[in-house]
Amino acid sequence: MKNKYELIVVGGGFAGFAAAVSAAKEGVDVLLIERNNCLGGAAANALVMPFMKYWTNHPETKERKYLCGNLFLEITDELKKLSGIMSTMSDFDEEILKLVLNRMAKKYGVTLLFHATVTEAVVQDGKVESVKVYGKSGTLEFYADHLIDATGDAELCALSGCEFKLGREADKLCQPMTLCFRLGGVNKTEFRKNRAMIDPLYRQFQEKGLIKNPRENLLIFDTLNDGVLHINSTRIIKKDPTDPFEITEAEIEAREQVFELYGFLKDNIPGFEHARVLSTAMHIGIRESRKIVGEYVLTEQDLLSLARFDDAIAHANYAIDIHNPEGCGTHWHEFKSGEWYEIPYRCLIPKGMKNLLAAGRCISSTHEAQASYRIMPFCCELGQAAGCAVAVAKEDGKSLHGIDVKKLQKKLRVEGFVI
Ligand SMILES: Cc1cc2nc3c(=O)[nH]c(=O)nc-3n(C[C@H](O)[C@H](O)[C@H](O)COP(=O)(O)OP(=O)(O)OC[C@H]3O[C@@H](n4cnc5c(N)ncnc54)[C@H](O)[C@@H]3O)c2cc1C
Repeated sequence: MKNKYELIVVGGGFAGFAAAVSAAKEGVDVLLIERNNCLGGAAANALVMPFMKYWTNHPETKERKYLCGNLFLEITDELKKLSGIMSTMSDFDEEILKLVLNRMAKKYGVTLLFHATVTEAVVQDGKVESVKVYGKSGTLEFYADHLIDATGDAELCALSGCEFKLGREADKLCQPMTLCFRLGGVNKTEFRKNRAMIDPLYRQFQEKGLIKNPRENLLIFDTLNDGVLHINSTRIIKKDPTDPFEITEAEIEAREQVFELYGFLKDNIPGFEHARVLSTAMHIGIRESRKIVGEYVLTEQDLLSLARFDDAIAHANYAIDIHNPEGCGTHWHEFKSGEWYEIPYRCLIPKGMKNLLAAGRCISSTHEAQASYRIMPFCCELGQAAGCAVAVAKEDGKSLHGIDVKKLQKKLRVEGFVI
């Protein structure tokens, strides 16, 4: 068994997938390690759906400009070919997504290792020499020139001793966790007719103490399946997603909320009379946990001022969408048509590390800034940029810290980045 690669990517969510594929496309020899049985990350493990908006329209001409990079568009094209995405290009089928991502990873030559959890990093002088992985045959050790942490939770960085932040600056509270679920047997026509009555009635039930879930309303999405709706409305607050006992408590409390919501809908809303809970996600959804402390920390002010950076490697425009970490309410700042901010390469570099990058929702930023770029299309974009950075480092024989960022930007522009 081969135990040395040019690049090891840990985590097979959108960030890790994109990092692995973009590096492999440039001729880098890549191993992607994922603790579960498929690619897709939160979309697969936490049943997160749909894709939030990944483009902006010119305020006058209305021309659409994509802000996600070409690799994400390649994924949506592949989904479309297999009828795995609705015409809105946002609601998708995660079973088809898993298949598409496997096929693309194979096509571009990424070596996949599933059912394997990275448990330890061996670090010397700011370089990760190897990672230890617990899998089906016990513990294995893999060596790499470069590594990318795409675990969402900055797990590899934490294992490597890098500094990180959790949640808000003032009290370390993270955005709430949500266990997503699906209801089957719904009469969608009746549901649509009665959609407007759901939230006012839900709030009345909350006021009477009949509903304990602190979320202010119900977030319900359509799916590609007849009679099936996707519900993203449980809300678990004040729990640390990196503490094993607190996340256990979160899963238990969320499961109670699933059935509380189900009972409310079934007993009160026309269209749900014959509904049943079809599935719950195998992992509670984590919006925010560890964020690395990088060479630069992206702030809310950077977002609001639509910051531009000399070392920009990504851009985003999804709203600053903060689900209240203490209970009811959601803070929402929407960017106008034609507006976006940039993300610098330095946000991917954990302070003091020479051969390690972070990608996806755990890059270096404040709680408020993370609330915007954390959506799947932009995590994919950040992964694509990270993988491409490794290709540049390989080409020039440089450390990830010392690459020619202009050269990276040139490659990314070819890949549809408007930096
Ligand atoms: C409830 C909820 C609703 C959301 N709604 C939307 C939405 O509607 N639209 C949208 O676009 N975005 C949404 N998001 C945000 C988005 O889903 C995530 O921020 C994004 O998917 C993160 O991608 P990622 O690749 O950084 O991490 P993840 O998708 O979390 O992937 C990380 C991967 O790393 C693996 N991993 C972790 N640790 C290890 C380890 N030690 N060893 C090996 N593997 C490991 C995990 O199994 C996982 O597959 C939502 C998030 C949540 C939680």
